[in-house]
Amino acid sequence: MIDEDGLPVRGLPAERVLEEVRALRGGDRPTHGGRLFALVFDPAVPGLDALTASAHAESAHVNGLDPTAFPSLVAMENALVGAAARLLGGGPGTDAPEVVGAVTSGGTESLILAVKTARDAHPEIAEPRIVVPATAHAAFAKAGHYLRVAVDMVPVSAETLRPDPAAVAAAIRPETVLVGASAPGYAHGVIDPVAEIAAVAADAGVRCHVDACFGGWTLPWLRRLGEPVPAFDFALPGVTSISVDLHKYAYAPKGVSILLHRDPELRKPQYFAHADWPGYTMINPVIASTRSGGPIAAAYATLRHLGEDGYLRLAAATRDAVNGLADAVRATPGLRLLAEPESTVICVAATDPELDLFVLVDELDARGWHTQPQLAYAGLPRNVHLSVTASAAPLVAGFGADLADAVAATRAAGPVRLPAELLALARSLTPEGLTPDLVAGLTAGLGVGSGDAADDGSPAPVPSRMAVVNTLLEAAPAALRERLLVEFVGLMQRPTWSRH
Ligand SMILES: *Cc1c(COP(=O)(O)O)cnc(C)c1O
Repeated sequence: MIDEDGLPVRGLPAERVLEEVRALRGGDRPTHGGRLFALVFDPAVPGLDALTASAHAESAHVNGLDPTAFPSLVAMENALVGAAARLLGGGPGTDAPEVVGAVTSGGTESLILAVKTARDAHPEIAEPRIVVPATAHAAFAKAGHYLRVAVDMVPVSAETLRPDPAAVAAAIRPETVLVGASAPGYAHGVIDPVAEIAAVAADAGVRCHVDACFGGWTLPWLRRLGEPVPAFDFALPGVTSISVDLHKYAYAPKGVSILLHRDPELRKPQYFAHADWPGYTMINPVIASTRSGGPIAAAYATLRHLGEDGYLRLAAATRDAVNGLADAVRATPGLRLLAEPESTVICVAATDPELDLFVLVDELDARGWHTQPQLAYAGLPRNVHLSVTASAAPLVAGFGADLADAVAATRAAGPVRLPAELLALARSLTPEGLTPDLVAGLTAGLGVGSGDAADDGSPAPVPSRMAVVNTLLEAAPAALRERLLVEFVGLMQRPTWSRH
């Protein structure tokens, strides 16, 4: 716990400051080692971290705001965009020879900009809309919210987890500026029928964005390894833009995604230019204006160091890890795969209602395997998500035994049963009914911000076992769930006050 704010009266020696950072990091989930199956992407390549840290440091103070002052950044950005475009069916000799793009800070920014670009291509549409499958990443909803673009969600089949392209076609209206598809969707790792969706979008004269934030840097290598990967990129004529996150499966440090457009004309509305003020003329391709060259240089170093041979090798290791984990799930009574793995996601559902997956997630945590619980949604059951990376490959052999052990402990503990009044409250409460008193009672009852972990009296940011919290959240309607999470995170985000 930090007991002072960030600004001491007298500056501290560098070594002491680094010790503080290291001590704080000690409480985090492990970013390396292949046991955290979400949030981090570790290729377990010796020396890569040192290389990217050096490259990041070289360019950390470079400012992407003015490309004429720092040509190094334009050069590296163009090299990253070229690599991504070539990997995703564009570039010389393809059907998309004019592909252009930009580096953004992450998948969310890439999606926001894809929606903004499509919206601003149609200034005549007063109330623009987009169409996406219900499994599309929440960042599409965020884009709609930020940009005041309505989001029409097409349901997916509970069996295939895919939308019916005919339903996508039917959802397209005169105000629709963009149709989205995922390759694959984050939650289940299922690839949408992109060819059919791109075709219905093209028929309607609407742009089609493929969200390949997750799979754009794995599916091409898996295809080269002989896996059956359907067409999802610029090889499909209806695809007008694609996003791919380098800070996921390109294994670059955080802060780099790429948004590609099929040609420069399609990209134009992405730019924001403003000359109507007394300062410099602002011309931004992305949301940030000042931006660090660090992440771009680090991503550049990662691609140059790993190369095609490196990514192929890592994709093969990842595929083997996926297969091993999937086999372990198949061999465990009470569990099943919600979807057959098509990419690098394992998604686990229960076949036995007495096997509480939220408890299982806590039991796996206790055994050093960190997975991500996903709440039941629109006819889809509660499930557990694992984003699998190359670093998991050597561990897979030990996973089955720990999974069996965790399942036994989960059965012994039995499912979380919330008091009936609490469940009834969660189901019936409206966001407006959530008074400060009620929030305080709930957070205390659930152990959020309650001080159950800190010895100095400061509040513990998160409870150690999450099953009860997840059960309550799942019972609450989405609008209440959102409100509750805003309250919980608002409690965590409080300034540290100095004691001096
Ligand atoms: C991760 C992800 C995003 C969002 O990316 P961030 O980098 O977290 O902003 C969007 N779409 C898909 C499919 C993703 O996997």
